[in-house]
Amino acid sequence: MDLVPDLSQAVARGEIIAYFQPQVDAITRRVVAVEALARWRHPTLGLILPGVFIPLAEQYGLIADIGSFMIDEGCRCAAEWDDRGFGVQVAVNVSAAQLRTPAMLDHVAVRLRQHELPAAALVIEITESLPVIAIAEVCDRLNRMRSIGLGISVDDYGTGFSSMSQLMALPATEVKIDRSRVQGGTSSDAFITEVVEMARDRGLRVVAEGVETEEQLRVVRELGVDRVQGYLFGRPLPERDTVHLLEALT
Ligand code: C2E
Ligand code: MG
Ligand code: MG
Ligand code: MG
Repeated sequence: MDLVPDLSQAVARGEIIAYFQPQVDAITRRVVAVEALARWRHPTLGLILPGVFIPLAEQYGLIADIGSFMIDEGCRCAAEWDDRGFGVQVAVNVSAAQLRTPAMLDHVAVRLRQHELPAAALVIEITESLPVIAIAEVCDRLNRMRSIGLGISVDDYGTGFSSMSQLMALPATEVKIDRSRVQGGTSSDAFITEVVEMARDRGLRVVAEGVETEEQLRVVRELGVDRVQGYLFGRPLPERDTVHLLEALT
C-alpha cells in the first residue's frame, strides 16, 4: 500500500502526534528528561510507528514538515512542563536530512524565544549512522546549535559504523548507548565501559536506552551510566499521560 500521498498530508491534518518517553537518573530514579517520539494516527490504518513512516518521509522529502512539527511540540510541552515546575529536558530526534536544512536552526531559535525557553531545556538527538560524506557539514550545524546552548545527543551509539573517533569528532553533550548493547549481555559490558571512560574525559553525559529490567538497570548503573530510558520506567505516552507520569516520578 502506498502511504506516501497520505503522509504528505499527515501534518496538515493533525495526524502526527508526539509521544514522550521518560529518561530517569540512574541513581535517584527520578524523571529528568523525556524523549519526543513521533506517531502517525492514520485515519484507517490506526497508529503507525516511526520506524515505518520516518524512512518514507526522508526518502520522499517530507521530513522537514514532520521534523518542524516535532520541534514545535517539544518546545511547547517543555515550556508547559517548565511552568508546572517539572523542570525536565525534552529531547527531539532530528534526522540528517533535516539537520542539513538551513532553516532548521532558525526555526528552533524562534520557538525557544516564543516559549521563553532556555536552549538547555532542549536536546537534539542525532543518529550516529550519519553518512560519512555529510560529517563536515553536520559538524558545522551542530557546532552552531551547541553555541546557542542546545544539548546534542548522539543516538543509537553502538550500532552500525560506530567508532569512538567519529563520536569524538562530533560536538556532542551526550551519548545514548543503543539498546542492542544494553540488552546484549556481558559482551556489551566492555563496550559500555569504554563509552563511559571516553565520555568522562570529554564531559559527556551517558544515557542507556532500552532498559527493561532491574538487572539491566543495575548493570548499566554500576558501569557508570548517568541516565536510563526504557520500558522499566515507561513506554512512550501521549502528552496527557506524560503529565501524570511527571507528577508521580519527578
Ligand atoms: P530512537 O530515537 O532510538 O528512540 C528509541 C526507540 O526505542 C523508540 O521507538 C522507543 O519506543 C523504543 N524503546 C524505548 N525503550 C525501549 C525498551 O525498553 N525496549 C524496547 N524494545 N524498545 C524501547 P519508536 O518510538 O518506535 O521510534 C523508533 C525510531 O524512530 C527512533 O529511535 C528514532 O530514530 C525514530 N524517530 C521517532 N520519532 C522521530 C522524529 O520525530 N524524528 C525523527 N527524525 N526520527 C524519529
Ligand atoms: Mg532518539
Ligand atoms: Mg535511540
Ligand atoms: Mg535506538
